[in-house]
Amino acid sequence: MEKETKIQLKGMPVGELEQFCISIGEPKYRGAQIFNWIYNHLADDFGEMQNLSKQLREKLSSSASLSVFNLKEVQQSHNTSTKKFLLSTNDNRNIESVVIPDKERNTLCISTQVGCPLDCKFCATGLLGYKRNLTSAEIVDQYLQAAKIYGKPAITNIVFMGMGEPLLNYENTLKSISIFTDEMNKGLSRTRITVSTAGITHRINELADSGLRVKMALSLHSCFEEVRSTIMPINVKYPLKGTIEALKYYAKATKTRITFEYTMLKGINDRPEDVKALIRLCSSLPSKLNIIPFNSIKHMSPGGISSQLEPTPKDKIEAFAQKLRESNITVMIRDTQGDDIAAACGQLAGKHVN
Ligand code: SAH
Repeated sequence: MEKETKIQLKGMPVGELEQFCISIGEPKYRGAQIFNWIYNHLADDFGEMQNLSKQLREKLSSSASLSVFNLKEVQQSHNTSTKKFLLSTNDNRNIESVVIPDKERNTLCISTQVGCPLDCKFCATGLLGYKRNLTSAEIVDQYLQAAKIYGKPAITNIVFMGMGEPLLNYENTLKSISIFTDEMNKGLSRTRITVSTAGITHRINELADSGLRVKMALSLHSCFEEVRSTIMPINVKYPLKGTIEALKYYAKATKTRITFEYTMLKGINDRPEDVKALIRLCSSLPSKLNIIPFNSIKHMSPGGISSQLEPTPKDKIEAFAQKLRESNITVMIRDTQGDDIAAACGQLAGKHVN
């Protein structure tokens, strides 16, 4: 009970921490000191904050909290170096985040919601339904938990590609980005942060105007409105046409290149007309295409159209990518990482899957 009345300091950008310090009768600069302890020294106890007086540390302990998640389990993939973190919230909800090491990078994939309301037919998280938004503390604590294991600054990249739709939890996503990209937080920069969205059009415009200039990825999966609406119901509310306009604005305002994510589904988006439509779309704005092999969601025993989805065979994916490259489209085929522990794209469901 006592815990709930305390103010959570993780997830506050430095300006908010300064305001908090002023509100308890402390000088403003204490806010930056606390920020430094949380994000650079990974402190989760006020007792560690040695440049604060004992009296202030006690005052903070009685009115504020740094406790966010309980780390329940770290699962290690057997065939790659991917690790999956199972974290439980103070209200006993489970969420997952994943670290994907690759050469000189360690990419952290973070969640923004418990479950997801979007109901994309190929995604395990969507099949869970939606429970609630994560707080900004819960978003940044995924980074802090991973940084504790990997050390600082070993997490080099952050992708908002875990559970949930970041642009439907806009305020908290924005706050967490402003913390990650704060120059006082050493080791991360805006060019190493990617927000992935299914296409919440007005929020793409707002993020463009925010000045944060992180990278943007769109879960595209089909260039055709009707097909896209069948596998991604959100396309009915925010049709692709408007989303592409917003992305053109984003690319221009931020001087960044848009990433299109494209999960290959046999017979649905791997046809010759899909190649043509992709060439047209990708040539119309600064962009690159990430092709993702479809990861099975059979462990969720889905019904309806979800149960019928099959991956495009590997050789067909290669041929598809080749045709796009011949038209000067930048194409990457993403490796499947961590599917043995259900940590690959679209497999996060916050429960054990053995
Ligand atoms: N809601 C956000 C972020 C989460 S999904 C979004 O839609 O972008 C992260 C990426 O994994 C998205 O591109 C998503 O479409 C893709 N994905 C989801 N399920 C998948 C699956 N079963 N196999 C491969 N990729 C999948």
